[in-house]
Amino acid sequence: MASGIVYLVGAGPGDLGLVTLRAKELIERADVLVYDYLVHPDLLRWCRPDCEQKYVGKKAGFHALPQEEIEALLVKYAKDGKMVVRLKGGDPFVFGRGGEEARTLAKDKIPFEVVPGVTAALAAGAYAGIPLTHRNTSSSLIFLTGHEDPKKHELQVDWRSYGPLKNTTLAIYMGMGHLKFILDELQAGGMSADMPAAVVQWASLGRQRSLAGTVRSLPALIEKEKLTSPAIIFVGEVVRSHEQIDWFEQLPLFGRRVAITRSREQASELREKIEALGAEVLELPLIRVTKDVEKQTLADVFLELGAYDWIVFTSANGVKYFFEEYHRLFDDIRSLGLLRFACIGDATAKAIREHHMKIECQPPKATSEALADALIATESLDSGKVLVVAGNLNRDILVTKLEAARAIVDIFPVYKTEKTNLAEEPAAESFRQKGADAILFCSSSAVQNFIDQAESLELETDAKRPIAGSIGPQTSETMKKVGLTVAFEAKTPSLDALVAGLLQKLKRS
Ligand code: SAH
Repeated sequence: MASGIVYLVGAGPGDLGLVTLRAKELIERADVLVYDYLVHPDLLRWCRPDCEQKYVGKKAGFHALPQEEIEALLVKYAKDGKMVVRLKGGDPFVFGRGGEEARTLAKDKIPFEVVPGVTAALAAGAYAGIPLTHRNTSSSLIFLTGHEDPKKHELQVDWRSYGPLKNTTLAIYMGMGHLKFILDELQAGGMSADMPAAVVQWASLGRQRSLAGTVRSLPALIEKEKLTSPAIIFVGEVVRSHEQIDWFEQLPLFGRRVAITRSREQASELREKIEALGAEVLELPLIRVTKDVEKQTLADVFLELGAYDWIVFTSANGVKYFFEEYHRLFDDIRSLGLLRFACIGDATAKAIREHHMKIECQPPKATSEALADALIATESLDSGKVLVVAGNLNRDILVTKLEAARAIVDIFPVYKTEKTNLAEEPAAESFRQKGADAILFCSSSAVQNFIDQAESLELETDAKRPIAGSIGPQTSETMKKVGLTVAFEAKTPSLDALVAGLLQKLKRS
């Protein structure tokens, strides 16, 4: 049996964009993923569908696995020949017990690699506008742990000894439980009560919160504003910059929660656009799209590929899975023959162009009917052969119309769309508990799926009721039909226009 390997990987502080390329690549390849509490759940969707995911962290309702058991687990999986990714929040070697895990692996002669990550203090500094060093005020930076768990037998920090330090920034992890004690001890050690101090909770995420004061005033401020763990506490002159360069919390949608209802596979572009404006995004993946190709149909279609006049794509998913199969079976792009490409929608067109293919027919209106009309207008359909690449749900008016125009139509389903189980989705749970400021719909089918799954999305009493936004007239109509009030509609049916509508509704004055 091939020998296994363990990668001790830093997952960064939360924001998906702060995960390293190496980490993403390894997560995508992992046979087993062992992760804990501070790892963002969205990272898990990079895993292969058959990857075994093992949660070992502490979170309400779950028991944390003792450290020795985690280490034993890593060893066991590796000995079984697995490629194991041990994913930890931030950096694995900064207050993450990564060093202990590496030693166990070395002792047991298990091959391993360590992949660093953006540690929380770096993210907290960057996202709260607190430079960790400064030419004139801070020439050293110290990472400290406040030991939230008094049961752990760890080295105790002698806080008083840090009181007299000059020109230094202290970055304190796990300090919220003993914050008052820590700051009092620093003062008892000689630190001025006016030394600037700040706290940054959930750094880099849409739910980030920060507060700045002094070592004397900070505890009361935190109590008043109810900031809790996970948070980084900064102490030092550098904190003074916070007020001036706190860029992240000034973004126009900062502090807003926006739920999106696209399938996981399609959500990322919309998510990025909304997050760039500072909002927290809740992905409610109502449907799941998976590749689903029937072997016989695949063989039939690919044998005849050269004989088609047109190939029609109705979605970016269709393009993706079609080309995946194509490249699996052919190593020459010319095996496509002289096919002409037709498609519906800009996202589909973009996906086709990414394969360096030209689109000969795309109607301005993104509907099946408009595409059929546009194809008929080319006057090439009489006895022409058309291949429609689609999902399991969209056998529709397109085919009927093309056949009526005497085309010979073959349908090639390459993916299927299924309902997901929202009961187990962390984002859905968060939606039920806290609600959102807005919820966005990008298709009629998303509206329908939302209504179908309404039970798993029912808001608790004090959850915020979101306003609903729509991408275009068709979606709005469906929303009205099912009783949803359309608070805003995109001026043109595009993600950019949808986000512009959202911004107009929710931006801070
Ligand atoms: N290995 C991690 C630290 C784990 S210890 C790293 O390198 O970041 C857990 C502590 O990290 C938390 O108690 C908190 O102090 C800090 N932390 C982790 N993620 C954070 C975040 N997004 N914002 C603020 N603090 C965070």
